[in-house]
Amino acid sequence: MNVLVINCGSSSLKYQLLNMTNETVLAKGLCERIGIDGKLVHESPKGKHVAEHAMPDHAAAMAIVIASLLDAEHGVIKSKDEINAIGHRVVHGGETFTASALITEEIEKAIEDVSELAPLHNPPNLTGIRACRQHMPNVPQVAVFDTAFHQTMPAKAYLYALPYELYDKYKIRKYGFHGTSHKYVSSQGAELLGKPIESLKIVTCHLGNGASVCAVDGGKSVDTSMGLTPLEGLAMGTRSGDLDPAVISFVMEKEGLTAAQVTDILNKKSGMLGLSGVSSDFRDLDTAAREGNKLAQDALDVFAYRVAGYVGRYAAAMNGIDAVIFTAGIGENDTAIREKICTYLTWLGVELNPELNGKRGQALDVSTPNARTRTLVIPTNEELVIARDTKMILK
Ligand code: ADP
Repeated sequence: MNVLVINCGSSSLKYQLLNMTNETVLAKGLCERIGIDGKLVHESPKGKHVAEHAMPDHAAAMAIVIASLLDAEHGVIKSKDEINAIGHRVVHGGETFTASALITEEIEKAIEDVSELAPLHNPPNLTGIRACRQHMPNVPQVAVFDTAFHQTMPAKAYLYALPYELYDKYKIRKYGFHGTSHKYVSSQGAELLGKPIESLKIVTCHLGNGASVCAVDGGKSVDTSMGLTPLEGLAMGTRSGDLDPAVISFVMEKEGLTAAQVTDILNKKSGMLGLSGVSSDFRDLDTAAREGNKLAQDALDVFAYRVAGYVGRYAAAMNGIDAVIFTAGIGENDTAIREKICTYLTWLGVELNPELNGKRGQALDVSTPNARTRTLVIPTNEELVIARDTKMILK
């Protein structure tokens, strides 16, 4: 069974075709600058193919993806019929979706209904679903939600201390994101430890451009750092994360800005980029800090301090902790930031083996032999989770 995994952004479309008989990637790629001009990067065992194509909309981009998969030179299938199912990453499932779902007219309407909670993310996801239907009307499609894994959070974790009617009327609450990643790395971590996930208290740290921490108790999410939107929680590449809500009206008044303008600052001009003035990319920040840039150093310190704070908070939420897991671009690769975070966690029994911590890109227990709490690095694989869910639902 071949599953095509699609992740649509407002001007991009990422894809991966997986053979789910043996869980191998047949081809993957990215369409960028959709609606502007259009660029395709397609990779398969036959090599990397980069080309410029007009992509006025997502349907046009989808046509190019299909053509690339079928191409005589760099394609991997002979007919569209070899695509048996399509799995979509959908960012927000609200309270409606606690698991992945086969896309029907009704489900599509439900995704549309929760779009209000994620106006930047869900509409492009829906566009991707429609573009696929246009080109492959008979292929079943499944939606896999970033929020679904966190629907097991108890009310004490997801309720904001606001007038209850705001939750009642608008469903304003914590939802959490990166669910597929937190779910995947926690289950992989349990496997690496050789213990049933039901017996483990794990804190997963998904540290990429967007970053979140999750408390996984017995395999279930019981708390997470992102909220109604992916802005809450950690300081991220360009997002502020947690702050005193009064800051917003203060900045609006002082700078004469609208709420939308301040929200834009919080999402796109804050975080590591805003603090350092250097970059949102940790490789640039590491270099700048090594060269003595104090603001870059401060930004890295803020990042590590806040991650460690959440790990401590979630150890309390679960009344214990067996393992901390690092994943995503920064979590998997930035050995210095892992070390910096772990220096705050010795009281929890975290102890890094510096030699093992220096390794990258593989699932590894990087703790000392006697560390009471294990520290694991697990490369995430959100596409695989989406393809697995798609296969499972169609069975
Ligand atoms: P997203 O999927 O959220 O866009 P990723 O998980 O791909 O992000 O993470 C991207 C980030 O990972 C980059 O911005 C960079 O900061 C960081 N990163 C990637 N490789 C390295 C590395 N070798 N050392 C330090 N940081 C890295």
